[in-house]
Amino acid sequence: MGSRLRVLATVLSTALTIGCSPRARIPIVEQTQMVMGTFFTVALYGKVQPDSAERAIAAAFDTIRAVEMWASASSPRSEVRVLNLRAGRDTVDVSAPLDRLLHLAQKVAQASDGAFDVTVGPLTSLWGFEDSPTAPPDSAAIRAALRLVDYRDMWLGRRRAFLRKPGMQLDLGAIAKGWAVDRAFALLRQRGYGDVMVDGGGDLRVASTSLTAGKRRVWIRHPRRPGNYIGRFPYDSGAVATSGDYERYFLYEGVRFHHILDPRSGWPARACASVTVVGPNTTLCDAWATAIFVLGPRRGLEIADQIPGLEAMVVSEANGRLYWDATEALAARLEILDPAAVRGFPE
Ligand code: AMP
Ligand code: MG
Repeated sequence: MGSRLRVLATVLSTALTIGCSPRARIPIVEQTQMVMGTFFTVALYGKVQPDSAERAIAAAFDTIRAVEMWASASSPRSEVRVLNLRAGRDTVDVSAPLDRLLHLAQKVAQASDGAFDVTVGPLTSLWGFEDSPTAPPDSAAIRAALRLVDYRDMWLGRRRAFLRKPGMQLDLGAIAKGWAVDRAFALLRQRGYGDVMVDGGGDLRVASTSLTAGKRRVWIRHPRRPGNYIGRFPYDSGAVATSGDYERYFLYEGVRFHHILDPRSGWPARACASVTVVGPNTTLCDAWATAIFVLGPRRGLEIADQIPGLEAMVVSEANGRLYWDATEALAARLEILDPAAVRGFPE
């Protein structure tokens, strides 16, 4: 898709969208491309010089593709792939960005008591959500994979890393998209753009100027009604990410099996339908959305409350009913669009 100049209007394409009044007539230069298995949109708002804006957006996409290259375990030139291949054998030198990302991932793993764990690779390979599975793996295979999943077996030094057991595999799927959004955003800010949005399939980073201040809304996808939204809130600057059980799943004997796995059991985490996290950068939001999803609504919101700058909204489902709750500051700004959704947790 090419880049184009158009008038800002409500766009309902991704899990989280930003819409302004169609009458706002704010010019945008934007481009959408398929990267990291999802649609990324990079947009610059206001009066910008079109040629340099398009060059900046192209550079932002190069940045995103570079992250995909080193962070995806399957891409041939990936650093993560090298780490996985050397698991149980040797320590590997890692680039500065991977070093930073792994240290961050390790902090979230520790703070969430392993609910977030980038060593889930053996489990995610077994479930194979990339290949559209139709049935869960057998429980003996899950138990075997689980023995290789433990963030405490990932050793990190200064620009060095080691997976202690042979067969261990990193999967950065729960954090790398957020990281790519942040890197693209930083590049655009460095080039002097002040009114910016980077959207990685619903994981967002935004900065506003007086032109757009007060006009943006983040829309939270309805976890059970595709194309609908369960809530929205005004948002000017910062980051948002959502994890949902509707993103990659299959139904087997009437039960939903989805891609966010509980590293304690090896099975999909059951307590949430979606988690949206608001915070200072998309990397943290992405990681914590997955962590809170696994921790469940009660413990998840308790932890979110303790982390400065982080807010969260959790949607859960029980007996055909949807429940929602959020940290105070977010709850105060949230407009719930499904009148049947109840505030609180299922018993
Ligand atoms: P997200 O959509 O950000 O919640 O990330 C989900 C992806 O992260 C999955 O497709 C897996 O690749 C990986 N993943 C699944 N469960 C976990 C977990 N408990 N901790 C870390 N990564 C996970
Ligand atoms: Mg995530």
